[in-house]
Amino acid sequence: MNDGTLPPGSTIGILGGGQLGRMLAIAAARLGYRCHIFEPQIDCPASHVAQHTAAGYDDTAALDAFAQSVDVVTLEFENVPIAAVQRLVKTVPVRPGATALAIAQDRVTEKSFLNKAGIETAPWAAVQSQSDLDAALQNIGLPGVLKTARLGYDGKGQATLQSATDAMGAHEKLGSVPCVLEGFVDFALEISVLAARGLDGSIACFEPVENIHRDHILHRTLVPARIDATVAQRATQIATQTIEALDYIGLLAVEMFVCRDGRVLVNEMAPRPHNSGHWSIDGAATCQFEQTVRAICGLPLGDTTRISDCEMRNLIGDEVNDWREILAQPGARLHLYGKAESRPGRKMGHVTTLHSPAITARPSKSQSQ
Ligand code: AMP
Repeated sequence: MNDGTLPPGSTIGILGGGQLGRMLAIAAARLGYRCHIFEPQIDCPASHVAQHTAAGYDDTAALDAFAQSVDVVTLEFENVPIAAVQRLVKTVPVRPGATALAIAQDRVTEKSFLNKAGIETAPWAAVQSQSDLDAALQNIGLPGVLKTARLGYDGKGQATLQSATDAMGAHEKLGSVPCVLEGFVDFALEISVLAARGLDGSIACFEPVENIHRDHILHRTLVPARIDATVAQRATQIATQTIEALDYIGLLAVEMFVCRDGRVLVNEMAPRPHNSGHWSIDGAATCQFEQTVRAICGLPLGDTTRISDCEMRNLIGDEVNDWREILAQPGARLHLYGKAESRPGRKMGHVTTLHSPAITARPSKSQSQ
């Protein structure tokens, strides 16, 4: 097809082989696509369901062979070296592309980009040294959150600064790497919006969902979010504006704080499927993974309507051992990632509980026997 559509039967390359890659490959297979994962780690979750090249992102021969074997490349891990993407793009389209990826990889470029596009964030300052931090604290004040500019996730590479004592030596404690200081947002709740943009520029957003964190890791996602229509509309508009400003193809997650006065601030974005979109596998007309496939392959974007109210809960570490009890609960949909070893803080699976009246009205198993 000459309009750029990659029809079913094509092969999707995925950079990164974690659970997001696994669920993406499963959704792609449903639509008749093949997937080929590029991920250094052997026996990664996605390798159980797709072809796998186990090589480093600096292995140019492996990257070239991978590029030859696929029709389009996407990613499930945003910290892929830009040089690898720039190499792939000489042979095969990469969606989202290197520019969006580079912006999302660094909190300084990300916040500069957002603010330039007219999107509000917490007050922030780039911090290269302890004296930068001391100066930034004069402007932004305490409490604040100091974050490494790159490679932070699930609260790693972050320090909350409540007092001048906390601030002392804080830059060195984070490894003396480039950081940002953010003002602490006393938010009412946290939400995210997942937006997709197709090859033809069409955009579809999932509704805002509410995210509850525990120990800096996403614990639960509530759908719908407990916000009013004005906030929901504002959040959706922010995600739309962001994906357009990035000239983005694929799925983008935008995490936001809802302030007590109703303002919506962007915290960060992720250029890939997102943990807060897992509910959509069971709770929406089209799931975030299928939507990613549709966007990057030039298919029409899918209907994002919620078909059931639901709650997604991550199974972290040993919580995965509850799989038997979860399977016995009506309305509970279990997803396990095939990770051999559970460790504290490791995402092992998730469970989505559907609250549709059709499900909750069903007699429980013991009643029906
Ligand atoms: P992040 O890695 O930026 O997504 O931060 C992880 C979590 O830390 C967020 O989901 C919030 O719960 C909390 N957090 C991050 N930045 C701030 C901030 N500036 N003010 C208040 N809480 C924050």
